[in-house]
Amino acid sequence: MQPHELLLPRPEGLYCPPGDFFIDPVRPVERALITHGHSDHARSGHRHVLATRQTLDIMALRYGADFAGSTQAAILGEKLSLNGVSVSFHPAGHVLGSAQIAVETEGLRIVASGDYKRATDPTCAPFEIVPCDVFITEATFALPVFRHPDATHEIATLLKSVEQFPERAHLVGAYALGKAERVIRLLRDAGYERPIFIHGALAKLCEYYQSQGVDLGPLEPATIEGSAKGAFAGEIIVGPPSAFADRWARRFADPVACFASGWMRIRQRARQRGVELPLVISDHADWDELTATIGETGAGEIWVTHGREEALVRWCELAGIVGRPLHLVGYEDEGD
Ligand SMILES: [Zn+2]
Ligand SMILES: [Zn+2]
Repeated sequence: MQPHELLLPRPEGLYCPPGDFFIDPVRPVERALITHGHSDHARSGHRHVLATRQTLDIMALRYGADFAGSTQAAILGEKLSLNGVSVSFHPAGHVLGSAQIAVETEGLRIVASGDYKRATDPTCAPFEIVPCDVFITEATFALPVFRHPDATHEIATLLKSVEQFPERAHLVGAYALGKAERVIRLLRDAGYERPIFIHGALAKLCEYYQSQGVDLGPLEPATIEGSAKGAFAGEIIVGPPSAFADRWARRFADPVACFASGWMRIRQRARQRGVELPLVISDHADWDELTATIGETGAGEIWVTHGREEALVRWCELAGIVGRPLHLVGYEDEGD
């Protein structure tokens, strides 16, 4: 069997004809296999959904319990057969519950990685290399300029600023699923024990992470209604980036605007967003991680879903690996 007979791009998403299922479809389908809970990958309205327990839980939290007709929890590392095609889920190191999906038949194995990273993240299981013939990767940060520093270094910068400006509130913009919890956990690992104040939009997911054994320490609502001017001076407040545009953010004491994102590597982007303290913390692989991972899978062929496809495809060619852009539409980068 040829790789494109096992998986191919369709407008709905990656489709497996012999298995009759889609991976991370962007439109409602009969059977969907979901890599992780970010909204561009995990959508509601599919008839059947197969994903890890944590991804199913996260989808239920975000879309309500009736987000799919029926669900099945995939156990990491366990093979299942769908119409004779073997599928298995393996940790992707991206956010809690995130998994790569291996699809295999007649000795041909394709791994769809969803989003992934190799850097240490205390809030989810680390990425596992799954040897394969075809590796499907994203290319969000696929340019040599994207080299993410160690996240602990960025957290140390944040804590130093908190110490230097005790009269100011530090507002950290971090996406609700994965990034916010990671930032909070990294602050705890760095020895920060004070309560961390969170925007209401983060409450349910933070609670879920805690229920899954990710200790986030004391969290309190960042409710500003009725509080005195100058409230939250010296404190750290974490909220979704979207909240920083509203009135909510302007009421804190002389806030230092921080944003935790891989995009903060580009100073101009930070300036455009009015970010005073950019924190380069990414839940996606950087250039070195992408190229190292491609090599480690041993794949002879690389399919690139979205991002800087041309650069990665070109790198593959130079490395003697077949690279093919899939031009999938509908994937943004909620997680970064
Ligand atoms: Zn994505
Ligand atoms: Zn993602």
